[in-house]
Amino acid sequence: MSYRALFSLCFTAWFMAPVGASALTYVPVPDTLLVDRADAVVRATVVSRSVGDETGRVMTSYEFDITEVLRGEGLGSRLIVKVLGGIDLAKGLGVKVFGTPEFDPGDSTLLFLSTAQDGSYRVLHIFQGAFIERRSGAQRTYERPGTDRFEVATSNVEPGAGSDSARMTIQLAAPMPRDADLFEQWISDRQAGVIRSADYFLPESSRDVTVIASPFTYLAGDDFILRWFEFDSGRKVRWHRHKDGQAGFSSKGAQEFKKARKAWKRKFSGVPIKLTNAGTTSSTTGFDIADSRNTLLHRDFNDSIEEDFECPGGGVLAIGGLSDFDFFFTQWKGLSTLAAHEAEIVVNDGIDCFVQGNSDLMAQIYAHELGHTLGLGHACGDPSSPKCSKSDFLAEALMAARLDQPFGAEIHDDDILAARQLYDEDFWAAACDQKAPGAKSFCSKCGPCGEGQGNCKKDGDCFGTLVCTRDVGVDFGFDADVNVCTAP
Ligand SMILES: [Zn+2]
Repeated sequence: MSYRALFSLCFTAWFMAPVGASALTYVPVPDTLLVDRADAVVRATVVSRSVGDETGRVMTSYEFDITEVLRGEGLGSRLIVKVLGGIDLAKGLGVKVFGTPEFDPGDSTLLFLSTAQDGSYRVLHIFQGAFIERRSGAQRTYERPGTDRFEVATSNVEPGAGSDSARMTIQLAAPMPRDADLFEQWISDRQAGVIRSADYFLPESSRDVTVIASPFTYLAGDDFILRWFEFDSGRKVRWHRHKDGQAGFSSKGAQEFKKARKAWKRKFSGVPIKLTNAGTTSSTTGFDIADSRNTLLHRDFNDSIEEDFECPGGGVLAIGGLSDFDFFFTQWKGLSTLAAHEAEIVVNDGIDCFVQGNSDLMAQIYAHELGHTLGLGHACGDPSSPKCSKSDFLAEALMAARLDQPFGAEIHDDDILAARQLYDEDFWAAACDQKAPGAKSFCSKCGPCGEGQGNCKKDGDCFGTLVCTRDVGVDFGFDADVNVCTAP
């Protein structure tokens, strides 16, 4: 594959990248807790979908036909599930929260739900309680919406199991789909008081070894992207913090948020991202009402995230996204683009037991959410992005969906490339397109590289399962000391 072909692949994939799922940082919730905490567990089929304004809060309503009730009482034949955010340009409604599940009419699903005050339902832990049924021959499987995902492989963490359990659940995570019949039986057994270990996980399917299509995922719609235009003309995006501050930190989170803002300023040559401090505010509107302020809420004042974070158990740590943007398209690098105007970050209640006053960890969570507000999706690990196990390049990203390895407010290679693609007008042309494969650091700076491309430093510089093979350049038309990405 030539480097031209690689970049046209990336660029095409950028258009086609599955988008619209999530911008949040989370810790996987074990299936045991999904069952135990759900008001209802149902098999249901999506009938319709609509975006509406619910007293100031933009939500997407899905109507479901219930096929089977596995848990819950008094459920009729239909129910409404509402998801925070949604975009309907014709209605003039648009709030994009990265991390919320999206369904299409006709989708067969398995849902773990909580009841809301208006009688409708919410998906437990934003997206962790939603599964799509897939059929292949006689086999039915459940996977989280999207194509690539990871799951909690075993679920032996029970409430009261000890203070380190939230961290334990992280280590138990592995990417596996579930056998639908066995998973339903396990849920029914648990519902009947039969507590047994999980027997429903399937090995990863073979399609997972296919090369990933795009290194970047964006906070976007099906056919457009979102970005700030302020930076292009040297302007700044100013951030407020709620006056109450982050509990458990001497600076009330101010220092941590400063580190997070600075992380996005550094390391870029052509990207003029400038996020500055606008001081504190008493406004708690968050995602509910646009107030022309970009605001960090240290608590979930409006219950934007239905379930609090719990230890043990896990859950969503924070969400970030855009609460106001243009409703007409502007062109950016030839792509339909909506200009961002207002962003929000909401930290979930109950995260103190997980963060435990760790300044680097808090700063990392803020920095990740800031990445979403800049228009970036997840590098890997959510329903819309590749699996993190596909490459170190992705797994090391600040924008990886799951918080596995606390490393502080740092952006890494994949984050830099994604940000440059979104904010550096000259990125393709100047930085990489004129740089030939085989050049020093080509794969780490402009990759990941496809088969036969170099120069790589490590396996993570290469797409998918390709490995970085040392000093084989001469076989591929480069100098002998060039390292090349090759099939394992
Ligand atoms: Zn995220």
